[in-house]
Amino acid sequence: MSNIYTEVAEKAGMKLSFDPAALLEKYNFERDKRLREDGRGQYREIAGQFAHFIEDPYVEPITREPLLDEVEVIVIGGGFGGLLAGAKLREAGVKSLRMIEKGGDFGGTWYWNRYPGAQCDIEAYVYLPLLEELNYVPRERYSHAPEIMAHTQAIGRKYNLYDDVCFQTEVTGMQWDEKESKWIITTDRGDRMKARFVAMSNGPLNKPKLPAMTGIENFKGHTFHTSRWDYDYTGGTCEGNLTGLKDKRVAIIGTGATAVQCIPHLGEWSKELFVFQRTPSSVDVRKNAPTNPEWQKKLQPGWHQKRIENFNNMMSGGPSEKDDVSDGWTDIFRDITNQEKMNPAKVLSKEEKKVLAELADFKKMEEIRTRAASIVKDQATAEALKPYYRQFCKRPTFHDEYLFTYNRPNVHLVDTRGKGVDRITENGVVFDGREYEVDCIIFATGFEVGTAYTSKSGYDIVGRGDVRLSQKWADGLRTFHGFFSNGFPNCFFMGMTQTGLTANMTHMLSEQANHVAYVISHAKSSNIRAVEATVEAEEAWVKDIYRLALLGEAYYASCTPGYYNNEGKPGSANNGFLSGQYGGGPVEFFKILKDWREEGALRGLEVS
Ligand code: NDP
Repeated sequence: MSNIYTEVAEKAGMKLSFDPAALLEKYNFERDKRLREDGRGQYREIAGQFAHFIEDPYVEPITREPLLDEVEVIVIGGGFGGLLAGAKLREAGVKSLRMIEKGGDFGGTWYWNRYPGAQCDIEAYVYLPLLEELNYVPRERYSHAPEIMAHTQAIGRKYNLYDDVCFQTEVTGMQWDEKESKWIITTDRGDRMKARFVAMSNGPLNKPKLPAMTGIENFKGHTFHTSRWDYDYTGGTCEGNLTGLKDKRVAIIGTGATAVQCIPHLGEWSKELFVFQRTPSSVDVRKNAPTNPEWQKKLQPGWHQKRIENFNNMMSGGPSEKDDVSDGWTDIFRDITNQEKMNPAKVLSKEEKKVLAELADFKKMEEIRTRAASIVKDQATAEALKPYYRQFCKRPTFHDEYLFTYNRPNVHLVDTRGKGVDRITENGVVFDGREYEVDCIIFATGFEVGTAYTSKSGYDIVGRGDVRLSQKWADGLRTFHGFFSNGFPNCFFMGMTQTGLTANMTHMLSEQANHVAYVISHAKSSNIRAVEATVEAEEAWVKDIYRLALLGEAYYASCTPGYYNNEGKPGSANNGFLSGQYGGGPVEFFKILKDWREEGALRGLEVS
């Protein structure tokens, strides 16, 4: 039957091996059955009787005297964002610098996430920052967590960031002192430090969450969240060898990007493994490989930044003649987002080009579904593992063992058909009236999503005139270029605050770190005490964000629920993970920043 899909496909010369209208209907059906009134309310904050889920299992707690001193710059967060800010500030000559980090070492997400199989799915040669500065080439194409964490520590050493860092320290408050034009920062260790400038990179997904289902507290067996893996219980390391599970029945709840990486290890070692799935992930091929020494020998100075930019260009729809990375990520973007550019404007209208991109998305997801069917032997299990939604509704994943794990006789997929687990009992997990008795429940249920800088992160920021950031941002973020907010002088937000998001997070953080270091060194050399976004500059940026962000809203409204679309309730530029980002894309965003720095006038900032 002819419809807009078949018409566009015919015009573009695309042969269809599937029925797009039927698929769309299936996608809508799958989305609708997952939509729920409580949205984000289905999760509970980990606190009170659940606080043990977020205790640090990796270090012994330290004691130290409170710090009541002053430094020039404080950087909050010791993950890649904070480390890059620290490195760039050191390069800019800042000596009086202190880092504050909740964990017991540098690493951020890679400090916390040490589950078996933890690996970065962005190519290591573009993901790991400062490679040439550290004279390092990653050992394999997709680094595993220990190598990444070691790299964060190497950055800490190279830029002397270990010299003044407070680990195991959580910021509890931040107040602007108008008289002195300085920030006063308090922590859970009784510190009261002053700083002229504060850069914050708290991470977008830094707080684990649990489903708000009943019974978790009654479970008599062992339980933990993937971001606090208990190797004392499971045995083994991040590389596997979970010998402690040989005689254990294990349940894992969740099948997102984390679960996809640890399930193969759980399947290999557990006596029995029950995987409780609500929505399947899209799992494409990984094809990891050790670094080729011949390739490494040929690398010329400047190779790293060039490759990072090439990747970013490919992911943003070109233009780029050569796809240097050429992997699953660039493949998706080339085939889906780039369809528009690949097809001459003369042939297709703007609307038709959108339809063509949708067709390419269907095609890619058909490949993913076919892959599941060709690997998983049990047909019902294979069917349940097929994702029916558009590629970017959820984080795409890549793994060469995950699907094969379901062919093991000890591994059972409990597909909850979009509903989720009903409850937990003393003995195990209940779904559909059946109790699955287990010795251990592992929560792979992800992280809280929200702005990391409001009270949710554990502290509020009190700016000029005692205005709280949580009040100011109650109805949505308000920034200039993502970094500055009027009323909060000398305070730099890093991360996903109305900035140009890219899948390669460290690239984004590195560009942001350059910007922070530029403004601080400019202020220092010009004897500027305070810089602050003007009301007008902020207003204009927020308008741009809303105008451009709205372009993606229809897409996310059509998606199956998840944290990308605020659990099925998109629509505000504040409440989703991806909403509120600069819609012009990272290439354009980085250029805006570069041009602004080159102009040298701090346009949009009030200085005093
Ligand atoms: P996610 O939020 O992606 O996944 C949570 C999982 O828990 C989902 O499968 C969700 O189902 C499921 N879930 C929630 N509640 C229930 C319930 N009541 N019953 C059954 N299942 C439930 O968290 P992850 O930790 O997997 O990933 C978080 C992010 O971390 C990723 O999206 C990615 O950005 C990042 N990451 C990156 C990696 C990398 O390689 N760079 C590797 C790993 C993670 P549903 O989908 O239905 O909501």
